[in-house]
Amino acid sequence: MRGNPETHELIAATSLTDALTRLADAPGIWMPIAGGTELMVAHAAGRLSAQKLISLSTIRELNFIQVGAQSVSIGGGTTFGQIRRHATIASDFPLLAQAAGWIGSIANQNRATLAGNIVNGSPAADAPPALLVYDAEIELISQRGSRRIPYAEFHLGYKQSVLERDELVFALHLPRRFENHARYLRKVGTRNAMAITKVAIAATAVITEGRITEIRLAAASLADRPLRLIATESALLYRTLSPEIQTAARAALFSEVRPIDDIRSTALYRRHVAANLLDEFLNMLEQKHATGMIA
Ligand SMILES: Cc1cc2nc3c(=O)[nH]c(=O)nc-3n(C[C@H](O)[C@H](O)[C@H](O)COP(=O)(O)OP(=O)(O)OC[C@H]3O[C@@H](n4cnc5c(N)ncnc54)[C@H](O)[C@@H]3O)c2cc1C
Repeated sequence: MRGNPETHELIAATSLTDALTRLADAPGIWMPIAGGTELMVAHAAGRLSAQKLISLSTIRELNFIQVGAQSVSIGGGTTFGQIRRHATIASDFPLLAQAAGWIGSIANQNRATLAGNIVNGSPAADAPPALLVYDAEIELISQRGSRRIPYAEFHLGYKQSVLERDELVFALHLPRRFENHARYLRKVGTRNAMAITKVAIAATAVITEGRITEIRLAAASLADRPLRLIATESALLYRTLSPEIQTAARAALFSEVRPIDDIRSTALYRRHVAANLLDEFLNMLEQKHATGMIA
């Protein structure tokens, strides 16, 4: 059943302080809305339970990309269009720029925000795997102050997170130390554009004197939340790539992921595709190393 606009109230926050005050004064009553590309779909389908919406789209303090010597900070209200077009993100965090270009259509990218993608909590969302392999930190803000935690600790389960009812996502902070890492991002969907992810894998790695000395792997649609693949990383760290090590990494991946059967794919399909993507990344890594493209 379609939602009825008359049963909802929408106000525009005049400032970050205004939004935080309203959230603090009536926790759980006001639902933040940024680009609305998730919430308006929920509304149209009659699934939007919140009656009162507070728009963040006019809050300038949430919309920024700040480039520092050590890190890049991206405000929660920054759109994927802005992220995709930003020169430093393209040079230092190309996987995030690539993921930004996958979010729906250009029209979506001009509305959809980074915080909205994260807080919506879909395990299939496109930005989280890139944020996970870049060791992003997430900064949450409320009237009580702000706190900064590893993004890897943000999601607790399906559509559950550590975000309190009076908090907003203020920013994501990405350390600028991945410039020389080999990188990989691949999304498998029904088609190339406007497709919800069936499986995606993001990866960064460094090979030093033939051994993998750094590796980060993350996935979408392989668990109830965006997942950092810690066990698979452990099977590869400090190893020299070989068919045996790749087999061990595949086995670790198989036992680590927890995909589901749904209308888009079966869990078994997702496991096999994920393992194939891992192989593709490791083969690329070995080839780059063999041809001297990485140390
Ligand atoms: C046609 C279409 C195609 C799409 N394709 C893709 C795709 O390919 N890949 C993909 O990942 N997603 C896709 N999406 C989903 C959506 O566009 C993204 O998840 C988007 O990033 C959501 O951001 P938003 O600002 O529109 O969120 P909103 O709809 O405004 O909000 C989503 C959630 O985030 C919360 N929220 C927003 N900002 C904050 C904040 N600063 N602090 C705390 N909570 C906040 C809201 O309360 C709400 O719970 C698509 C959507 C549509 C309609």
